[in-house]
Amino acid sequence: MASEQRIEAAACVDAALGFALPRRHARGRLVRIGPALEEILSAHDYPAPIARLLAEALVLAALLGATLKDAGGQLTMQAQTEAGIVDLLVADYKGGELRGYVRFDSDRLAEQPGQPSLFSLFGKGYLAITFDQALTKERYQGIVPLEGGSLAEAVEHFFVQSEQIPSLVRVGVEDGGRVAGGILLQHLPEGEEGRERLHTRLDHPEWEHIRILGGTIRAGELADSGLPLETLLWRLFHEEDEVRLLSTVPLAKGCRCSMDYVRGVIARFSPEERAEMVDEEGTISVDCEFCSRVFPIRQGDLDA
Ligand SMILES: [Zn+2]
Repeated sequence: MASEQRIEAAACVDAALGFALPRRHARGRLVRIGPALEEILSAHDYPAPIARLLAEALVLAALLGATLKDAGGQLTMQAQTEAGIVDLLVADYKGGELRGYVRFDSDRLAEQPGQPSLFSLFGKGYLAITFDQALTKERYQGIVPLEGGSLAEAVEHFFVQSEQIPSLVRVGVEDGGRVAGGILLQHLPEGEEGRERLHTRLDHPEWEHIRILGGTIRAGELADSGLPLETLLWRLFHEEDEVRLLSTVPLAKGCRCSMDYVRGVIARFSPEERAEMVDEEGTISVDCEFCSRVFPIRQGDLDA
C-alpha cells in the first residue's frame, strides 16, 4: 500500500529525476516535459517537424543542465547552420526553467516530405553547448558537428568524444510533439569531479553492462506522460544491487525577458534608427523571441 502511494506521488511530467548506480559508478537523469513544453510551443505557431525538434532540444537542455554543479548555473544549447532549413535553434536551462526557440525557412520546410533529416534541417551545422557556472563565473563551451541521426546523437558525441565520458543519451517525442522525455546515463569510475578522472575507458565492462540496460529504453516510454519516472527507472535497473534516487527537480517554462532589458536594447540604437522602428502611435513594439511577449516602448520615454 505504501509503495502504491509513493508511485502515485511520483513525478510523471515536468520533472527531472536524478539517480545513481553507485556500485557501477554510473549516474544519470531522466527528464519528461508536458505542460511546460506545451506552454513554450504555444508562443509560436511551429509546424510539426520544428515543434518536434524544439521538444528534443528542450529535453536535452534539461538533461545537460543536470550536470551543472551549482543551482544558479545556466546551460545553453545553440545550433548554428550553414544552408539548412533551420537558421538558428536555441534552448537553455537555468534552475529548472526552460526556454527555447527556432528560426527557420518555412518555404523550404514545406518542400520537405514528412520529418526532414538532421542534414536537411541543419546543413553543415554545429551544436555549441555552453555551461555557465554561477558561483565561480566559469564558462565552458564545447562545439560538436551536427552529424548523425538526431540532436541526441550529437550530444552523446559531445560527451564521448570531446569530454571522454562514456555516455548514453536518448530522447523520445510523443507523436503529437506535445510530450517529450529523455535519459542521460554516464560512467564516472574515477569520481564525479570531471578533470580528476584518469582512467575512463569506453569499453569498461561495468559501463558496457549499464549502457546495454539503458539502451533498452523505448522512445514511447520516455514520452509516456502517464508513466512515473521512478517506475521507468525501476524497469531499466531493477536487477541492479543499488539504485539511488537523487533529487527531483520540477521543470517549468521560464523566460528572463523584461521591460528593462528591452528598453536597454532599444536605447543602444541611434535616434534615427529608432525613428524607423516607431509605428503611427509613436510606439516601438519589441517581442521576445523566446516567449512572444510584446513590449511596447514609447519613443518619448527613451528620449527623456
Ligand atoms: Zn520572453
